[in-house]
Amino acid sequence: MDLLSGNPYWQTTVAKPPVYPSLEEDIECDVLIIGGGSSGAQCAYYLCEQGLDVVVVDKRKAGHGSTIVNTSLIQYLGDKLFYELVNTFGEEKTVRHYKLCEQAITDIEEAAKKLPINAEFIRRDSLYYASYEEDITKINKDYFYMQKHGFEAEILSEDQIEKDYGFKKRMAMLIKNDAELNPYSFTLGLLEYGKQHGVRMFEETEIVGQKLEKDEAVFFTKNKSQIKAKYVIMAGGYENQEFKREKKAVLTSSYAIVTTPVKDFTGWKNRNLIWETARPYIYMRTTSDNRVIIGGLDENTIVPQERDAKLVHKRDKLLKEFNKLFPHLQVEADYYISAYYGGTHDGFPLIGIYDEMPNCYFLSGYGDNGTVYNMVLAKIIAEHITTKKSSDLELYIQTRKV
Ligand SMILES: Cc1cc2nc3c(=O)[nH]c(=O)nc-3n(C[C@H](O)[C@H](O)[C@H](O)COP(=O)(O)OP(=O)(O)OC[C@H]3O[C@@H](n4cnc5c(N)ncnc54)[C@H](O)[C@@H]3O)c2cc1C
Repeated sequence: MDLLSGNPYWQTTVAKPPVYPSLEEDIECDVLIIGGGSSGAQCAYYLCEQGLDVVVVDKRKAGHGSTIVNTSLIQYLGDKLFYELVNTFGEEKTVRHYKLCEQAITDIEEAAKKLPINAEFIRRDSLYYASYEEDITKINKDYFYMQKHGFEAEILSEDQIEKDYGFKKRMAMLIKNDAELNPYSFTLGLLEYGKQHGVRMFEETEIVGQKLEKDEAVFFTKNKSQIKAKYVIMAGGYENQEFKREKKAVLTSSYAIVTTPVKDFTGWKNRNLIWETARPYIYMRTTSDNRVIIGGLDENTIVPQERDAKLVHKRDKLLKEFNKLFPHLQVEADYYISAYYGGTHDGFPLIGIYDEMPNCYFLSGYGDNGTVYNMVLAKIIAEHITTKKSSDLELYIQTRKV
């Protein structure tokens, strides 16, 4: 899959990324994780202390799939609003989902503290503003559920928004205790942590075939090695769809830019994360070297040529939208990318378990909070592998009823 185009910023932030060998022999393991992006690394993190023999393989360099363009706003409210998910799944399941996501942010924070590479995890609140007058009702509906179920948030008036951010919007919800991180150093940090705990990582090792039996899976690499495993986690990101097309998944395209450094963020309260109710939306955050990441303006196409033909236009439009909010911050786009993006029709991420692929788990944390969803799903899968049960699996399995 032609996952992305442009010049990703995150790869410039790690001076000497760890180098892993490619697989040149036949091996066996308890758990094979296919994909050394953030989702595979999150699985390795959860499994590495369970006394299991874990192998991770990636056809690219570790962290160079979608992870390298992940803008990494670490949030739990997503594209589909709280009340919309309640309409689809009911209140109990929706609240459980958000509680798991809220916990996952804490789990990411705890993980980041242990890693040998700085993941640049910082807690930030999220400003979620009403793009249009009619969206005020939507925010109020979400705020009702947030209050009712103990999620920390407050409503900001037009005056308060102007005081804190300098721009005019009719109203907003401030969601507390979200976060930002560097997805590349987080992923490398998790893989290195895994390595310290016995995980074997092989990069530039492509899986091209498989033979699946009741008690054992055998996977074949492009350079003709075999990996025998008791369990397999498909953590191939959007490329999971190449192994098994899942009809609940929707692929689209997205865009992001990273600006030149800003000298002074005065007038942008606490450098909070910012996004909006418009669809497609734009969103923004800052980086540890004082740049601004602005993303969004998604397109429905999944044809890379069509996606990329719009890249320069999207770059300019993202910059223009940013300047409407912060006209005093004079920046240019130093980095800009277009990429495959994914969600699901019903709004929950997916764990795929299929009869014809015994002992395989498809981890597809599709949606705008992919990093958080991947943490939730990785924990559930690790629990299922080690204990043979997980009460939360039913929320995310592809056979769920809505
Ligand atoms: C532009 C953009 C912005 C985003 N912004 C956010 C955000 O703000 N917040 C958020 O939480 N999420 C965001 N996401 C989502 C987030 O990027 C993803 O959820 C997450 O990084 C994907 O990680 P992954 O490991 O699942 O996929 P990937 O990073 O793609 O990793 C999968 C790996 O599997 C490997 N692989 C695939 N097939 C094979 C094979 N046959 N053999 C061996 N290896 C294979 C690939 O090489 C790849 O490295 C964004 C995504 C995009 C594209």
